[in-house]
Amino acid sequence: MNKDIVLKLENLQTKFKVGKRIVHAVNDVSFELKSGTTLGVVGESGCGKSVTAHSVIQLLPKNGMITKGSVTYRSKAGELMELSSYKRNGKDIRQIRGQEIAMIFQDPMASLDPVYKIGSQIAENLLEHEKISKKEARARVVKLLDELGIPEPDKRYDDYPHQFSGGMKQRVMIATAMICNPNILIADEPTTALDVTIQAQILQLMNEVQKEHGTSIIMITHNMGIIAETCDEVAVMYMGKIVEFGLIEQVFNDSKHPYTKALLKSVPVLGLGKGTKLESIRGTTPDASDAYEGCVFEPRCDSAMAICKSVEPGETCLADAHCVRCHLYEGGSK
Ligand code: SF4
Repeated sequence: MNKDIVLKLENLQTKFKVGKRIVHAVNDVSFELKSGTTLGVVGESGCGKSVTAHSVIQLLPKNGMITKGSVTYRSKAGELMELSSYKRNGKDIRQIRGQEIAMIFQDPMASLDPVYKIGSQIAENLLEHEKISKKEARARVVKLLDELGIPEPDKRYDDYPHQFSGGMKQRVMIATAMICNPNILIADEPTTALDVTIQAQILQLMNEVQKEHGTSIIMITHNMGIIAETCDEVAVMYMGKIVEFGLIEQVFNDSKHPYTKALLKSVPVLGLGKGTKLESIRGTTPDASDAYEGCVFEPRCDSAMAICKSVEPGETCLADAHCVRCHLYEGGSK
């Protein structure tokens, strides 16, 4: 694995058993995350973007399992670790989770315990992974809260979650994730619950944290605007597969896959005339437990051809790392 790659997913497949049905949540996903960069993973809800991230750190519910593929991680010490085999080999993923790869979740209230002080909840991660005293941990937490723009951090350390606003709680979540200075930060819809002004502040803060610490970020969102503002590369997911991957400029200025094009048409743009209707993608996503032949986007695709009904498209790479899964491009660029 190239030295500037910190995470590599190869043909990852994750399934869930729901009653008698098998749901194919992540289906043959491959990508590389480069050191110090942000990779966006975007798609409608249920497309498998969060499950992909949860598979990396094996934060899957009991009925979920990685059934194929591999997740290779380059640690802070430069060691290559095959994370997807940890469970099988009895290794403890908790050594990696939090210290090397940390996660910020969508809803801080679901992650913060209302009965514990903010500071001690952040320090918990530090005390679990590093041999330091409680006094040293407190000093580290206060310093980080200060860096993250929380006023009077020493006093706020002893406050409870209900004493913080939504934006401040999300700053606390960033502090909890960053306290061990992880190599990779996975942000799962980190600003969905916030209003747009606070959302912009949190995204700016994450950008500063990345520059300061050299963190690599996986940004999971359904919001193309956030992807455009924060990411270097983007993977567009549909029904558990990456249908288009590329640099931000490639995917936004020269999108190829009909699904990416439709997603971009559904984003509001500044200067759009009053009363102009945004386009929606017709139809709904199919059931992920159904077997299908051909291209899974075919029932919703305006460019579908006869072949699309019966033959699943493979991946075609058009330029550098700009790759697409669509029959339209199999003979080259269009
Ligand atoms: Fe549309 Fe066919 Fe391309 Fe699928 S393979 S996105 S159906 S044109």
